[in-house]
Amino acid sequence: MSKSLQAIRGMNDILPEQTPLWRHFEGTVARLLDNYGYKQIRMPIVEFTELFKRSIGEVTDIVEKEMYTFDDRNGDSLTLRPEGTAACVRAVLEHGITGGGQVQKLWYVGPMFRHERPQKGRYRQFHQIGLEVFNLDGPDIDAELIVLTWRLWGELGIRDAVKLELNSLGTSESRGRYREALVAFLSTHLDKLDEDSQRRLKTNPLRVLDTKNADTQAILADAPKMADYLDDESRLHFEGLKARLDAVGIPYVINPKLVRGLDYYSKTVFEWVTDKLGAQGTVCAGGRYDGLVEQMGGKPTPGVGFAMGIERLVLMLETLEQIPEEISRQVDVYLCAFGEAAELAGLALAERVRDQLPNLRLQVNAGAGSFKSQFKKADKSGALYALILGDDEMAQQVVGFKPLRGQGEQQSIAWDALAAHLATCIVQG
Ligand code: ATP
Ligand code: MG
Repeated sequence: MSKSLQAIRGMNDILPEQTPLWRHFEGTVARLLDNYGYKQIRMPIVEFTELFKRSIGEVTDIVEKEMYTFDDRNGDSLTLRPEGTAACVRAVLEHGITGGGQVQKLWYVGPMFRHERPQKGRYRQFHQIGLEVFNLDGPDIDAELIVLTWRLWGELGIRDAVKLELNSLGTSESRGRYREALVAFLSTHLDKLDEDSQRRLKTNPLRVLDTKNADTQAILADAPKMADYLDDESRLHFEGLKARLDAVGIPYVINPKLVRGLDYYSKTVFEWVTDKLGAQGTVCAGGRYDGLVEQMGGKPTPGVGFAMGIERLVLMLETLEQIPEEISRQVDVYLCAFGEAAELAGLALAERVRDQLPNLRLQVNAGAGSFKSQFKKADKSGALYALILGDDEMAQQVVGFKPLRGQGEQQSIAWDALAAHLATCIVQG
């Protein structure tokens, strides 16, 4: 196929055999968030470029080199969203729903776009589920965000494979003092820093902490520590968070080098990381951004949130084989009808069953075929039972009920009794 008729590199189709696992993941998250009282918000996929520059920060990887930016036909610079927080903040401000200190606990799901080098766990269109909470400034809500992800890992069966890393970036004042100390220290080692870090030292010095360069990392071992520069407010907040995680029994490690790739964070930052996915180990990341709303033109409004990468988490479920049986089976019952009269009767019967069992996954064989070929299809569908309607069954107003997975002999069930019989045989997910 010519290249222009293929999908864009790093932008994937999610095929029918993969969607059940996606829906299992998204459905589990959605139910959990309902339970914790979060409400869904949906934002557009395209925003003015300025929105992301202002919020994420001009000197970040995302804005410097990862955004899909283009001119609209009328000359406006637009960008495919690289993340959700900026648009969410814009939306709450635009609609005034955080005004007067109103608490909002929001979540969203959808595609994000970053021009990165595609590889396992890293794509150019990827999907996130994000949470944002506005107007709660205490460590209790930071803890709630972490507690609910901990529950999610438990429900998905991947708790043992993820680790929580925590840090505090302090208030902007304490971060400013730390930045000065860090710059002063690194400047004395300037010639030994890698090129990227030399550049960052001028533009965004905290990001030097994030370097993958081993020599720079060695120098950083003796660098001043953020923890020593935290003011009382930030320190208390961080202690409060840790106490709550201890109370629930969630293990964590403090990672003083955790700074995150976006400029808007303050106080708490955290990442859930795994060693099961190779280099792309962060499955969920976030933190507090108390200054962001104001920076975007709103009244001072505390905020905290995180985003998780769906591709990486689905990969984890596959890698750890945490795929529940009922999601890999997409058909419960497969109805085979032989002859025109049986096909009509089968259609009517299927609709009656669906009236009574709305969650049943009942597939009606579309198209004729021999007995043999229909059974083959029934079996291949993964169904637990086949229903058979042929001349004999039509004459007796019954349906043949044939277990396909070795659960006993074929029986005849009266049409009127079919739904009740199915209800006893099939545990519905
Ligand atoms: P990384 O360090 O892996 O580049 P990040 O710090 O850029 O991640 P965030 O912006 O915090 O990531 O996004 C939150 C989550 O979204 C990540 O933890 C990851 O699970 C997922 N994610 C980010 N970028 C990608 C991508 N290009 N492809 C797939 N998932 C991604
Ligand atoms: Mg990144």
